[in-house]
Amino acid sequence: MEAAIGIETLDALLAIAFVAALFLFTSSIRRHRRRKMADGCNCYPDLEDKPQNRFKRVLADNSYSPFKHFKREGKEKEISVRMHPFAKEIDYLLKHPPDLKTFITSHKNSNSSCHFVWIDTEDQLEALVNVLNKEEIFAVDTEQHSLRSFLGFTALIQISTWKEDYLIDTIALHDMMATLRPVFANPAIIKVFHGADNDVLWLQRDFHIYVVNMFDTAKACEILSKPQKSLAYLLETYCGVYTDKTLQREDWRLRPLSDEMTEYARNDVHYLLYIAGCLASELESKTSDISASPGDELNFFLETSRRSNTVCLQLYVKEVESTPGSSAASSILSRNMNIVGLTSSKNLETKDLIWILCAWRDLMARIHDESLRYVLSDQSIAALAVIAPKNPSEIYNVILQADTSNVSSNAYPTLPSPSPITKNHMDDLCFLLLEVDANVDDVIQKYWQKHLDGAQCCPLSPYNYALLSQFNLKHSGLSFSKSSAEKFSSTVSKKVSRELFIQKFSCKSPVYHNCRIYATDGRMLCYCDRKKLEWYLRRGLAKMVEEDPPAIMLLFETKGRPEDEGNEFYIQSKKNMCVGCGEKSHYIRYRIIPSCYRMHFPEHLKSHRSHDIVLLCVDCHEIAHSAAEKYKRQVAQEFGIPLFVQKIVNSGESTAATVASTSMSAEEETGVSPLQLRTAAMALLRHGSNMPSGRFEELMQIVRTYFGRQEVSEEDLEAALLVGMSPHERRRFEKKRGLSFKHTEQNVVYKNYASSSSQTNNHNKVNSSAHVREKPTEKDKESISDQGIHSNLSTVDTNGNLLLETVGSSSIRILDREVEIEQGKASYLKMDIENEDQLDDSSVNLLLMPDEITTSETAKKVSLLGHGPHGKQVVEHLLKRNGEEGVRQFCQRWRKVFVDAVHPRFLPLGWDIMHSGRRDFGDYSVYNPTKKGLPEVYA
Ligand code: AMP
Ligand code: MN
Ligand code: ZN
Repeated sequence: MEAAIGIETLDALLAIAFVAALFLFTSSIRRHRRRKMADGCNCYPDLEDKPQNRFKRVLADNSYSPFKHFKREGKEKEISVRMHPFAKEIDYLLKHPPDLKTFITSHKNSNSSCHFVWIDTEDQLEALVNVLNKEEIFAVDTEQHSLRSFLGFTALIQISTWKEDYLIDTIALHDMMATLRPVFANPAIIKVFHGADNDVLWLQRDFHIYVVNMFDTAKACEILSKPQKSLAYLLETYCGVYTDKTLQREDWRLRPLSDEMTEYARNDVHYLLYIAGCLASELESKTSDISASPGDELNFFLETSRRSNTVCLQLYVKEVESTPGSSAASSILSRNMNIVGLTSSKNLETKDLIWILCAWRDLMARIHDESLRYVLSDQSIAALAVIAPKNPSEIYNVILQADTSNVSSNAYPTLPSPSPITKNHMDDLCFLLLEVDANVDDVIQKYWQKHLDGAQCCPLSPYNYALLSQFNLKHSGLSFSKSSAEKFSSTVSKKVSRELFIQKFSCKSPVYHNCRIYATDGRMLCYCDRKKLEWYLRRGLAKMVEEDPPAIMLLFETKGRPEDEGNEFYIQSKKNMCVGCGEKSHYIRYRIIPSCYRMHFPEHLKSHRSHDIVLLCVDCHEIAHSAAEKYKRQVAQEFGIPLFVQKIVNSGESTAATVASTSMSAEEETGVSPLQLRTAAMALLRHGSNMPSGRFEELMQIVRTYFGRQEVSEEDLEAALLVGMSPHERRRFEKKRGLSFKHTEQNVVYKNYASSSSQTNNHNKVNSSAHVREKPTEKDKESISDQGIHSNLSTVDTNGNLLLETVGSSSIRILDREVEIEQGKASYLKMDIENEDQLDDSSVNLLLMPDEITTSETAKKVSLLGHGPHGKQVVEHLLKRNGEEGVRQFCQRWRKVFVDAVHPRFLPLGWDIMHSGRRDFGDYSVYNPTKKGLPEVYA
């Protein structure tokens, strides 16, 4: 009886506590939101400026997906996931150690100046690389920051040559560090480290820098059986220098570094070459002492080199836990075993709480890019689990007490307790401590979801982007059940997709710089961006007339003035906001004339691009885009030119693909749509083995139809993936797959493509040279290491249905409209988003810009998978029927479609549906139809 009452009372108390907590929770949310409105907000009380927030790219982010190592060009095939990209070179070194002379001959003339070079610009870094390339040996050390970052990052790299010490600001240069890759991987240059085990992994993690040919002085100490192998010991013994190693725990993000830290950082590397020389001599003499039995086993120098290079072979991996936070939970449990016996039910509860709190802490740390101990200390977790406080102020006190009572063992006595993260998520903790029977999976899901819902509140960064946008359970190796995983991923709200979409695709800096260009007589010609202005200045074609905002005057006479032709538009200053609704916080470029048409316009008709590219917020963008897609279908009907290539066949032996006619007799024609072919091939390659046999047959039939034979090999399937892709798409795709499809070069022959239209001529032959692979450009090379920032892979389910096209590194569902991406959308995303940068939006193009010599550019972009071929046909048709006037009228129709759909209220003055853009073109103009070659200045 008593027990029963007890339980009832407990229930009542719990209920009251729950209601109270709920009240606290909701009101705190309200407070939270209010504050957010007030100050632009995030999860931190003050918007903290963490230096890693300025990194543009990170190789190791906080998601649960595995680290991707560098893929060497041309070596993609050789390298399996777990193989070191320089395994071969290192292997060679293990057998052929470097020459001892390098150490011994020169170490007498060690530099003793107190001068050092601080490297924090790209130019300085390049200069340093040039210096290092000429050295035979240099010494390296790194300093890390790990408190205010989940995985930690390299804050400083120290390099010492015989002549000079260099301190590289790897925070300022984080995105440019690739410059150092070759010199570190150069097997002809010895890199001296002391205790390199961590440095080697950190360099891989942050910069894809791989060390090849290393001499580790700590390994030398091992071989020489030194009493100690610390650097402090070596510095004292060989150089009489005493160092205070506690400095290694300083906050290396500090800028400028204090004198003391600078001195420490230099000392860590300055004497290393000298010490390496001494140790090498000792290794040499030790070897010759025992020269009675010569042989590799007794060559101590060789052994040191071998052990050092074995360190280089290590590969960085992100730790993978079966359940987030589980390793921390186990260690907290084992350390507190004496307090928390594990038998009584109370203690079982405590144990569960430890697991739950650790899981929550893990997620919080990843989302906010903080270390676990910064978010919530181990001792606080233990105390919270044992005491199980039930309201925010109790929780607050338990944490504070746990942290202060343990201050002696705390390496960071100045840490705020509770941390701002914990304080701002106190509501989470209240719930966790109340919901004792929650399981870890649910906790993670719930709080991940919560952060997604509050995407405006916790700032997005390259560190948490993948985690928040593609909480990919398949790759995470987490222990969620399938059903909850499905439920989970289906709850990604529209709102959040929208936020992520904005983050990813909106213009990162103002589009219009409103720099001005004046003619020789001082009359204004147009507004333009800074890049263009600099372009004129660099070539001595203009002089600066005003600084802020910048304005230039051209030094040559231009033909045609905007105002002469009623083109006031070009001399209007333009605002950085959505022309539809006036939204200023974000905007995306929108092309009023769809690219599939515009790309085929005669060059001189492209000159009013700035008129026909406007800024729109995502909402207006969506409206404009769907109106345009609808109108495209109308155009297709009207002109009888289908939106997609209907049929394509491979003409067998000659490996020539042919676009088949889609006339009345379409049924009899052999051939498949290129998109269908690609989708089928992708599904077969990915899921062929587990596919229902009926579906398998169906898809195989598509591929067989294309190749015109029964036998279809895996190579054929891979070849089919590339059919119809533009060289651009193809190159990107190959990079992404890390494969080279040399054997799939194909000559594509179009056969009566535009069937139902009146045209039946055969003039659409595309030269096979359009498909010849080009040498990768610098930009392409860059994107190899980009972790697929520009990736474009379709997701295909086991039934071979194209589910969604992933754009960029994430699989976000863009505003739900992309959930079931049908044919057109893929090309929409590619054309409208990826090519964004390639299109110069700014003002009139009076002059020939070298990067706009685009005749072959168009060919590179035309893909059989998108609307490109349709656009080409339509434009040809227009030109044939009405000449350029036809194209102009066509543009006017599109402007009307745009205006009718969006009802734009903020179009710049002078913007006009009827805009003609007619004007004369000067000798320099790229739009001059009579222009033949390039003037010499632009060569
Ligand atoms: P070092 O190899 O001595 O130059 O140390 C490199 C980096 O390792 C330092 O910048 C620290 O971030 C980290 N580190 C090394 N030892 C410790 C330690 N005992 N406590 C904290 N951090 C350390
Ligand atoms: Mn150091
Ligand atoms: Zn808008």
